[in-house]
Amino acid sequence: MSGKDVEERLGPLLRPLRFVSRKDFANLNRVKQLEKTLKEAYLEIKEVFPEELASEIEKLIEGLDALSSTQKKERVQKLIAVLESAKTHSSPPELPDFEDVNLSIETYRSYRKELSKSVQYLKGVGPKLAKKFAQREIKTVEDLLFFLPKSYEDRRRLRQIGSLRVGEHAVVEGEVVLSGTVKFRRRKVFEIVISDGTGLLAAKWFHFNERRQRETFPPGRKVILAGEVSSFSGRKEIVHPEVDFPEDEKIGLHVGRLLPIYPSVEGVSQKLIRKVVANAVEEYAGKAISTIPAKILKKRGLLPLPLALRGIHFPEPHDDPAALCEKRSVYHKSLAFDEFFYLELALALRKSKIARAPGISFDTKSLRVEKFLKNLPFELTGAQKRVFAEIKRDMARLYPMNRLLQGDVGCGKTVVAFLAALIAIENGYQVALMAPTEILAEQHFLGFKKYAGLIGVEIALLTGGKTPREKKLVQQGLAEGHINFVVGTHALFQETVSFKKLGLVIVDEQHRFGVLQRAALREKAEGVEPDTLVMTATPIPRTLAMTVYGDLDVSIIDELPAGRVPIETLLFTEKNSQKAYEIVRKELAKGHQAYVVFPLVEESEKMDLLAATTMADYLQKEVFPGYQVGLLHGKMKPAEKEKAMADFKEGRVQILVSTTVIEVGVDVPQATVMVIEHAERFGLSQLHQLRGRVGRSSRKSYCLLVARSLKPGSEAFRRLKILCETTDGFRIAEEDMKIRGPGELLGTRQSGYFSLRQADVIRDYDMLHAAREEAFALIEEDPTLKNYPLLKEILLERWQERLKLSEVA
Ligand code: ADP
Ligand code: MG
Repeated sequence: MSGKDVEERLGPLLRPLRFVSRKDFANLNRVKQLEKTLKEAYLEIKEVFPEELASEIEKLIEGLDALSSTQKKERVQKLIAVLESAKTHSSPPELPDFEDVNLSIETYRSYRKELSKSVQYLKGVGPKLAKKFAQREIKTVEDLLFFLPKSYEDRRRLRQIGSLRVGEHAVVEGEVVLSGTVKFRRRKVFEIVISDGTGLLAAKWFHFNERRQRETFPPGRKVILAGEVSSFSGRKEIVHPEVDFPEDEKIGLHVGRLLPIYPSVEGVSQKLIRKVVANAVEEYAGKAISTIPAKILKKRGLLPLPLALRGIHFPEPHDDPAALCEKRSVYHKSLAFDEFFYLELALALRKSKIARAPGISFDTKSLRVEKFLKNLPFELTGAQKRVFAEIKRDMARLYPMNRLLQGDVGCGKTVVAFLAALIAIENGYQVALMAPTEILAEQHFLGFKKYAGLIGVEIALLTGGKTPREKKLVQQGLAEGHINFVVGTHALFQETVSFKKLGLVIVDEQHRFGVLQRAALREKAEGVEPDTLVMTATPIPRTLAMTVYGDLDVSIIDELPAGRVPIETLLFTEKNSQKAYEIVRKELAKGHQAYVVFPLVEESEKMDLLAATTMADYLQKEVFPGYQVGLLHGKMKPAEKEKAMADFKEGRVQILVSTTVIEVGVDVPQATVMVIEHAERFGLSQLHQLRGRVGRSSRKSYCLLVARSLKPGSEAFRRLKILCETTDGFRIAEEDMKIRGPGELLGTRQSGYFSLRQADVIRDYDMLHAAREEAFALIEEDPTLKNYPLLKEILLERWQERLKLSEVA
C-alpha cells in the first residue's frame, strides 16, 4: 500500500477529526455525534490496521461523546497522532533488490526448454491432472506460471472468536469441541463448534457426507475456518466455511496470507491448483528470465519477471489486496511492462530500420499540386494543410516516409492523399493505393479518377473482379510505367504485378491490414523503399495506435470542412419505427436521397440478404412507390454493384437499401438520411462508420437508428445512446474499445499479431506508455541491440514471427 493509498483509506476517519481540531478546536462542540461518526468510519476501514493498533483506536473512540471538552480534545489529538503514525507504518516497503541477469544464451535456452516441459513434470501432477489442466490450455510449466489468480482473499490475520462481528468475513483458528448432526426443520445438518479460548463459534453444513465429516472433525482437532460470520439464535456461526488444518501448513499455502483465488479448472480444487502452482513457482519462476535492464526497471519501480511472477502467486503480507485484485499491484504492472516492452522494442526496431533505409527524396514543389488546388471547389481546412505539410516534409527527406493519417470520416483525407500522389507522380514515380474491399477500391477509383482527369494523371483499377484481359492490361501498364496511379485490393500483392517505378504506397486500412501486408506491398518497389501513407477513417484510440501502428509517425486531421452541420442521430424502437420513415419521406421530398442499411450477420447470411431484398421490395411497393429504390449487397457481381452505386450517385435511384458494404468510402453528398435497421446488432465503430456516409454536405443530415429488440440498460442500449450523444470519432473509438476490447476492434486478423498474454492496453496504459518510452530510447542508443544479445534473443523469440523481424535482425 503506498502512502497515498493509505491517506485515501484513512480519510473518512481523519477528516472529521481534523475538522473538529481545526482552529484550536473551534468546531468541537458543533459536531453532535462525533463518537458515532468515528465508529462508523472506523468500521469501514478497520481492516487496514494491525490488531494492536485497532484495539487502541477502538479504546480511544469508545465513550468519546460523554467526555468533557478537555478530555475530548486530548482524545482527538491522540487519535490523530495514532492515525498519522499508522500512515508512516504502512509506507511502501522497499522493493527487493536485484541486478542485471548475466546469463549465456545457451543457459537461457536451456531454461526455456525446461519451462516448455509438460506440467506433468511437476511434483504431484500425473497424467490425469495434466489432462484437466490441458482443458484450460495449461500445458506447459510456463503456462502454469502465467495462470494468474483472478482475485485474492485476505487471510493474513487470524481473528479471535470473541471479537468477531456478524457480517464480517473472517478467518479463525480453534479446537473442535463438539461435532455431529443436528435436526433443523426436519433436515439433518452437520454442525461443529470450535473454541479458541475467547469464545465459541459454530460451523454448519447442509450438504455433507456424514462419515467423512465425522472423520474430518473429531473433537480435539485444530481447524482453521474462513467465511462470513452470521448469527443464529444468538450464537455466532459460519455456514459452509472454508476449512484448513494448521498441521498441514508447512508452507503457509492456504491461510495466514493473501490467498490467491484461481480461475476454476474443471475437476481440480482451488487447494490443489494452489499446491501445483506453488510447486511450479518454487522450482521454475527463477528460470522465467527476461532481461530488461535493471536500471530501467528500477527507474520505473518495477520488478524482473521471476520476482513479479512469484509475487503474483505469493504476495507479501504487506501487499495491498485491493491492488492485487484489480491487477494493479507492482507485480501485475511489472508483468504488463514486460510484455509491452518487447512489443515496443520490436516496433522501435522496425521503425528505426525503415527510417535508416535509403528512400526517395521527392521534390515537393509541384506544379500539378498548385494547379489541382486552384481547381478544387473548396479551400483546404487548416488541419488538411498542416497534415499535407507534414507529408511533404517526409517525402522530401532521403528516407522513406512511414506515416499514419488519421481522421474521422469525411474530414477530407482522400484529398490530402491525392496531393501526396501528385507529388510522387510529378517526380516520375508510380503510386499504388490499396483498399480493404473491392467496393471501397472502386469508390476510391471513381473519386480519384474525377480528380485525375483534371490534372492529366493516368489512373487504373485492379481488383479480383476484373476479367483476366483487363487485369493483364493494367499489369502491363504498370510494368511499362504509363499508368501513374493504380487503385486496388489485395490483388495488388500478386506476383504477376510489378511496377516500373513505385514511389508511394497509400493504404486505406480500416484496421484490416497489418504491419505485414504493408511490408509486402512496399517490397514491390525494387531497390528503393517507397514512401508509405496509411489512412484510417476509424479514429484509433491512442493506446492502440501505440501498439498496432507503433512503427508509424502519426498525422491527425481533427477538423471537419467548414459549413458541415452536425448529424442528428435519433433512436427508434420497433413501435415508433414508422416515425423514422416519415423523416425519410420529408428528406426525399426536398430532393435528397436516403440509405437504408441492414446488418449482415454471418451465420444467417441468406436470411439477412432476404431481409434486405424483401425490404427493398416492400419499400418500393408499399412505402415509397413514387421513388426509385435500389439494392446493394456484397453478393452481387462487381458490375451489378458498380451499376447500383452509379445509379444512386447520379440520382436515378433515391433510396439505396444495402448491407454494410457501404460502410466505407461511399461519397454521395446529396444523401442526407440513413436508416439503420436492427441497429442493436451493430458495433459502435461500425455504426459510426455507417453514419459517416451522410452529413457530407452543408445540408442537415439524419442518422436514424431503428432497434427492433432492445432492452433498456443493455449493452446495445448503451452503445446506441453513446452514438446519439456524440459524433466525436475518438470518443466513440475509446468507448468501443472499452466495450469490446482491443482485439475485437482490430478484427481477428490483426489482433492475432498483437495478442498479449496478460497486459491490457486500457488498464495498463501507463505501463504501455512507459514501455514505449524506454524501448524507443534503448533502440536510439543501440539500434541493433549489439550490446544486449540476450535481450535480442528474447525479442526475436517473442515477436519474430508475428512482426516479421527477420528483416530487422
Ligand atoms: P475522408 O476520406 O476523410 O472520409 P473525403 O476526402 O472523402 O473524406 O472528403 C469528404 C467530402 O468532403 C468529399 O466530398 C470532399 O470532396 C469534401 N471535402 C474534402 N475537403 C474539403 C474541404 N476542405 N472543404 C470542403 N469540402 C471538402
Ligand atoms: Mg522520402
